[in-house]
Amino acid sequence: MRALESILTEKGLINPAALDVLIETYETRIGPRNGARVVARAWSDPAYLDRLRQDATAAIAELGFGGRQGEDMIVVENTPDTHNLVVCTLCSCYPWPVLGLPPVWYKSAPYRSKAVIDPRGVLADFGVSLPAATRIRVWDSTAELRYLVLPMRPAGTEGWSEDRLAGLVTRDSMIGTGLPLAPEKAPA
Ligand code: FE
Repeated sequence: MRALESILTEKGLINPAALDVLIETYETRIGPRNGARVVARAWSDPAYLDRLRQDATAAIAELGFGGRQGEDMIVVENTPDTHNLVVCTLCSCYPWPVLGLPPVWYKSAPYRSKAVIDPRGVLADFGVSLPAATRIRVWDSTAELRYLVLPMRPAGTEGWSEDRLAGLVTRDSMIGTGLPLAPEKAPA
């Protein structure tokens, strides 16, 4: 993407500032909002959660999300005992249909190595601290398999609509480097 950007910029074909806005939009807004719909549905509908566990690709497609880089999806569920963290140690495999473009740090060598060697340290870097008893499982994405973390539904959200719940689901909570927002931090 960046190599292409510099060629196009050199040729005067694009405005880098406009491209940055576009990339930012896909990294943090459009893409991850799809994943947030999936998570909010799973939190709200036990039958959907079952389908997601059995065949995540098909369950995600029910909501209209699919295609390149999302052909073989697996959903990994956080519980009080287990927290899941997703990395691609080889390159930057990432589930585009539900999360959009990967953030820059996801592709960085330090994240890719530290996630495997010291996942708890990675979480600390992101400001996340979990109980010592919580096990951290690291999932290495490949060209074949892409993972989506299903975070735990925040307490205090009983009776919330799917729309409202989706507002709590951050991109990082679906990679495992973050947690969902607390109910009082919900976007207006
Ligand atoms: Fe990769």
